[in-house]
Amino acid sequence: MSDLIQGGYLIAAILFILGLKGLARPRTAVRGNLLGALGMLVAVAVTVTDQAIVSYWVLLAGIAVGSSIGALLAVKVQMTGMPELVALFNGLGGLASVLVVFASYVERVDPEMEDNTFLVAAGLSALIGAITFTGSIMAYGKLRGSVPTWRSSTAAYVNVGLLVLAGLAILGVVFKPSTIGWLLAVIILSAIAGITLVLPIGGADMPVVIALLNSLSGLAAAATGFALGNSLLIIAGSLVGASGLVLTQVMCVAMNRTLANVIFGAISGGESLDPDDVYEGKVRSTSADDVALILDSAERVVIVPGYGMAVAQAQHAVRDLARSLEQRGTSVTFAIHPVAGRMPGHMNVLLAEAEVDYEDLIEMADANPMFAQTDLTIVIGANDVVNPVAREPESAIAGMPILDADKSRTVVVIKRSLSPGFAGIPNPLFAQENTLMLFADAKQAVSDITKALNEV
Ligand code: NDP
Repeated sequence: MSDLIQGGYLIAAILFILGLKGLARPRTAVRGNLLGALGMLVAVAVTVTDQAIVSYWVLLAGIAVGSSIGALLAVKVQMTGMPELVALFNGLGGLASVLVVFASYVERVDPEMEDNTFLVAAGLSALIGAITFTGSIMAYGKLRGSVPTWRSSTAAYVNVGLLVLAGLAILGVVFKPSTIGWLLAVIILSAIAGITLVLPIGGADMPVVIALLNSLSGLAAAATGFALGNSLLIIAGSLVGASGLVLTQVMCVAMNRTLANVIFGAISGGESLDPDDVYEGKVRSTSADDVALILDSAERVVIVPGYGMAVAQAQHAVRDLARSLEQRGTSVTFAIHPVAGRMPGHMNVLLAEAEVDYEDLIEMADANPMFAQTDLTIVIGANDVVNPVAREPESAIAGMPILDADKSRTVVVIKRSLSPGFAGIPNPLFAQENTLMLFADAKQAVSDITKALNEV
């Protein structure tokens, strides 16, 4: 039986790796997703044959409740709510690790216990899992706008202090295993650290935090795997941990911050621009009809989508506009910023859903040299990712790589007002001489432009 289980775990692990490999390319992503899901099915099926299972009824009840909630969320949650959902999933992964390792500890531990692998792994799983749980709940609240960002110069010291104390409590777990208080101390200290670590992080650093918490949820699972002696949990947790860390690094580069700086640096708000100084008397608004006239004579058009496109669910209208332009012989490309939207790959997912050709989506490094030769750039619900103040060393988003939309001949920005984006700062692009503002909901505005263009 044991060989059968190990063989099943091996097949599941191979399927997970093939799944991840498939997910690296848009063309093979659907297949990759299916392979990963199949791997999980094999893993669950093999696990339920394990003789160590105490009650199949409890297991079935858990699967039924979990699957029902999962299915309901998958149907109900809007695309714009995905980042919050991902934050919640990460948190639940962390909580599951804490609960499993705690139950295992209560079951196994006795005063004479000398299984250091188990004890260290249990301590680490509790530490990482509890940080992931409360940190993710904080991130969820922040993304929903219900948890404010709390910045303090002492935050870094508090965080380091809590982590050191939690580390010492792990030593207590190892050297005094019969005292359950040590494991509880690890859990409580780490849970507080999760809150204090995420509270000061805000604005433009949020994507890094989400990717990091995702990685931590994997590492917690891997530590639980060591505690339980479950090879599949170790492999699957390591895969999530490693891919999450790679994503964290990609996000850090896209935000121009180091990971240590994001976590321990008390991020200053930077030099705050007064919106009145930036905008007053300088903003020119336009209409869908006028934009259609500009498009009529444009040869090269670049579309820059952002979070507002997701909010308005404008991706299908945007695809229709691009097709109308292409039918008229205009070249259309989409410039994609790596952190446009609220989650990694947000714009790619939406545009793929609208069946925009993947070849038409250009990454930032390739898009930026194109703007100087572009007749018209249409910015649709994007803000921070085209904010030229990122080039100013004193600004709050200093050094964040941006799309150089301001360098194109004419810029049309579609958004509902002059209100700021996620980073909360004004955007001088909106007041630039070559910029026209189309104040409207993105979906409505883009549909109106397409209609007007087809009538020109
Ligand atoms: P921003 O948040 O900077 O700006 C979005 C703009 O969309 C707003 O200014 C808003 O203006 C506009 N908008 C909202 N609703 C609509 C609508 N219905 N129609 C038209 N416009 C609308 O988005 P960006 O994509 O430019 O930048 C992403 C930001 O989010 C970055 O700061 C990034 O760091 C951060 N972030 C990214 C994550 C990721 O992983 N990608 C995760 C978390 C945060 P108005 O209200 O006037 O309409």
